[in-house]
Amino acid sequence: MNVLLVEDEAKIASFVCKGLEAAGFSITVSDDGNQALELATTGSFDVILLDIMLPGRDGLSILKELRERRNTVPVILITARSEINQRVEGLELGADDYITKPFFMDELIARVKAVVRRTTGETLSVLHSGKLKINLITRRAQYGDEEIIFAPREFSLLEHLMRSPGKIFTRDQLLEQVWGYGFDPHTNLVEVCIRRIREKIRYDTCIETVRGVGYRFNKNEI
Ligand code: CA
Repeated sequence: MNVLLVEDEAKIASFVCKGLEAAGFSITVSDDGNQALELATTGSFDVILLDIMLPGRDGLSILKELRERRNTVPVILITARSEINQRVEGLELGADDYITKPFFMDELIARVKAVVRRTTGETLSVLHSGKLKINLITRRAQYGDEEIIFAPREFSLLEHLMRSPGKIFTRDQLLEQVWGYGFDPHTNLVEVCIRRIREKIRYDTCIETVRGVGYRFNKNEI
């Protein structure tokens, strides 16, 4: 799978490159907006990872230009925590997903795979584990035959955990990655949300508390 990585921060570019290469992707890197647009329109990529603040031409303008030219290559925006408006604008312009810095490599890989599957018609619109099934498009959830109504944040948190089964997330990471912006670090939002999810899935043990560390989703294959 060919990935175009557009990122001008050398440290991030090298981290992403190493990680994606290790996962079997081929990577082309560009650190300049104009060059990136040129590469994106002339090359053949399965997905573009696009930073927003870039020298030359910014990420949103690259995305806009691509979509105006009817180029439908999947785009995942790499955004800073503070770039909430740009994130929204990017999704409206036709980005397929976004990931917020700092992020884990596994999460990025999962998102790349999901976006590619989605756009190639292979569906990863549903995540499941045992009796629990969540549909990422309709944002509806089922446990066995019964529909479960999750609040939007509960759904997002569950989705976040389910996208990376087995991976431990600290409370702070979940707060940052699911809520996304400056909440009081002493807030108990994460605990409350996890508790509500557990209640709704009848204390199914799939969300494990790793004492002193955080939470992880244990996928049940049955
Ligand atoms: Ca940048």
